[in-house]
Amino acid sequence: MINLYALSEDELADLLVSWGQPRFRAKQVWKWIYDRGVTEFGEMSNLPRALRELLSARASLGVLSVATEQVSRDGTVKRLYRLADGQLIESVLMPYNDKRRTACISSQAGCAMACAFCATGQMGFARHLSEAEIFEQAQRFSAELRARGERLSNVVLMGMGEPFHNYDPVLAAIRRLMSDLGIGARHITVSTVGLVPRIRRFADEGLQVKLAISLHATRDAERSASMPINRRYNIAELIDACREYVDKTSRRITFEWALIDGKNDTVAEAHRLGRLLRGLKCHVNLIPLNPTHGYDGRPTGADQADAFIDALAEHGVPATIRVRRGIDIDAGCGQLKSTLLKKARPQA
Ligand code: SAH
Repeated sequence: MINLYALSEDELADLLVSWGQPRFRAKQVWKWIYDRGVTEFGEMSNLPRALRELLSARASLGVLSVATEQVSRDGTVKRLYRLADGQLIESVLMPYNDKRRTACISSQAGCAMACAFCATGQMGFARHLSEAEIFEQAQRFSAELRARGERLSNVVLMGMGEPFHNYDPVLAAIRRLMSDLGIGARHITVSTVGLVPRIRRFADEGLQVKLAISLHATRDAERSASMPINRRYNIAELIDACREYVDKTSRRITFEWALIDGKNDTVAEAHRLGRLLRGLKCHVNLIPLNPTHGYDGRPTGADQADAFIDALAEHGVPATIRVRRGIDIDAGCGQLKSTLLKKARPQA
């Protein structure tokens, strides 16, 4: 079976020509797939029946199969996909009250970065995803939305995995989000733990794609304790790379900060963060911790979060609290998979 989602429009044309079809058929098939969001060859009504049958026999639309899906009260859809080799990955679709429809997709099965508070980090690394596996997660949501007259507007690479640890497939998939799904570069965000050489490389790509850095601490001892990558690239090196990125691209950088009660949410910590980021063109995204089974920490309350924002403001550093979505359906990174595996384990 040939996965059509893995082909460019030119490659699709070559394939159809090799089957003795006229080249223009590729444009028709392409439109059905990407403009109309059709997922069955039988629905491609302007194709000759013989071609539809050939496609059904020899080609597939995607390789991911849905293992489980949950829909939150707030409309968030969380999906666990099974890959061809049995690995499980998560994707989330978040509808907002405006027309925004944001997909959160995975770049790896598991993750090697081992961040203590992260459900995926607690699982360890299984493998990198291919360009096609990354792209298909967005394409699936895009197709479903198009089929009902909506469109996928934003994509964030904040699902399972460290995108910059799987750099080339991630960048290739991002380029396809732009060219094939029509998602604007400014509506795509890649999030990293802080792989410094890859941040530098990303600055040279000449893309308008947004960059987010998971910071979570201002002092090396604390950051290294919860984010092992900090032992390789410390905070000073990371912030240097961020300053270079902003100088080179003139783009604003986002810093992610999981607010953990009593740990990194004090006003003193906010002032340290303010001093660290002072003068850097940036925005701080505060995310109250999503509790996970492998980490003993609780989310910060609203009042403390407000005090944190006020302290940052004194340094001219803008910050907002990210509304937690899908909290009733384990929509935090890696959580659906952990829950599924726990249920699957036989009771002692
Ligand atoms: N590996 C990338 C992207 C995946 S995680 C990265 O680390 O940036 C996306 C964001 O969710 C990161 O900022 C990560 O630190 C954060 N995160 C992970 N687990 C979390 C949790 N339990 N609660 C709140 N935020 C979490």
